[in-house]
Amino acid sequence: MFRPDFGAEACELTTRGTPLGATTGRSQASAPLVEAPARPRFLSLEQAGELAALVCPQGCTPTKSALSPAGGPVALLSPTDTASWEDHEFSNPPRPMSSERRKRRRFAYELRDGLRPFGTPRVAGCGRKRIAFEVEVVRTKVKRQAGGTYQHAYFVGISRCGSVWECPVCALQIRAERAEELKYAVEQWGADAVAMLSLTVRHGLGDDLRAVRQGISHSFGRLINGAPWKRFCRKLGIQHHVRAIEVTHGANGWHPHLHILFFLETKLTDEEQAEASAWLQKRWAACVQRALGGAFVPNEHGVDIRSAKRADYLAKFSFELTDPGTKKARGKNRTPLQIAASAASGNDEALWRSYCEGMRGAKMLTWSRGLREFVGLGAERENEELVIAEEAEPAEPVAIITSAAWDAIRHRRGVACTLLEVAELTPKQSQAAEEIEAVVRGALRSRVPP
Ligand SMILES: [Zn+2]
Repeated sequence: MFRPDFGAEACELTTRGTPLGATTGRSQASAPLVEAPARPRFLSLEQAGELAALVCPQGCTPTKSALSPAGGPVALLSPTDTASWEDHEFSNPPRPMSSERRKRRRFAYELRDGLRPFGTPRVAGCGRKRIAFEVEVVRTKVKRQAGGTYQHAYFVGISRCGSVWECPVCALQIRAERAEELKYAVEQWGADAVAMLSLTVRHGLGDDLRAVRQGISHSFGRLINGAPWKRFCRKLGIQHHVRAIEVTHGANGWHPHLHILFFLETKLTDEEQAEASAWLQKRWAACVQRALGGAFVPNEHGVDIRSAKRADYLAKFSFELTDPGTKKARGKNRTPLQIAASAASGNDEALWRSYCEGMRGAKMLTWSRGLREFVGLGAERENEELVIAEEAEPAEPVAIITSAAWDAIRHRRGVACTLLEVAELTPKQSQAAEEIEAVVRGALRSRVPP
């Protein structure tokens, strides 16, 4: 088994990877792998709810120039990570006190690692590639919606992809944030006066996912444009809408579809609902015919309008994300998360790739103009902004991992989660820093799985 001299290795790696090695003093033989932060920044804490923190972010987007805590250079680029994780597996089991939130984080992190071979360089580097001189582990207290607080740790100085389709870690974080906004908007509006519409098209095996989902978007664009739509909205009291695009896969291939929440003046009566359904069926069929062609025109099941119950619309908008291993599949169609889990374990790789190619660039959620302002949500943030948003918030520094140490351990599965768990579960900062150093050293020794 390869057992390097870690002090010497760290020194050499740090010097080699550090343009300012001579001035930062990190090239000395005694340079530690992990440092307690020199400049504690204890600040007041206020954060979004627990949903928004389901997953701890790791670092930030490559476009961000993160200053080194040591005042070192910025935007240090390293080559795209193409190493197989199997070569570097690190066995460090979850701590016994794992909460549901930590379990979900482990699941998302493991899935992201398993999907790296199939991702674009940006997605493959998410949570691994360093974009700052060093990597900081920080933590913040988050208020629970049910009362009390919990510690939430995350990394600063690592690239994030911000892909809501391809990256389980970013997707969980983005969807949690969007779900909070949607719930807030519905509550502000009044849940009774919100209705949900689902729109699908006829589809078949072999259909190109990108072409069909773009065709559905164009069909919807046609639906909500023009005088007939304005008259329909006036008649039913539709003031605003939010549109989400989702996709599942089944025996008939890819099934991209739309879910729309209508924000109404008042709750629809049964008669109004029936009337709306009849009008929408006819109009949707005509729009699909124009945008995609007759082969895609759906039958009467292509349109479904009903009152929006919270659990229902959150599920339909795919904000209900759980480990597919513990979730029963709905019908025979599989969700992207289920396909992802299958791809990560060696099956369905081609299917996962075709899903990624088909959905890349699609906008998950679209708000009608003026709705966000009306309910007091303010401007919508991009996915890339959401995954690094908390880096702008005050946080307690726990430890700084040197560039050399991070670059040596970043391929090893499970290490990142363990570091965050240590930071969250060890109350005393100095002790947490020591334990993090121990985990880093352990990871450096574990080149071969036990
Ligand atoms: Zn990501």
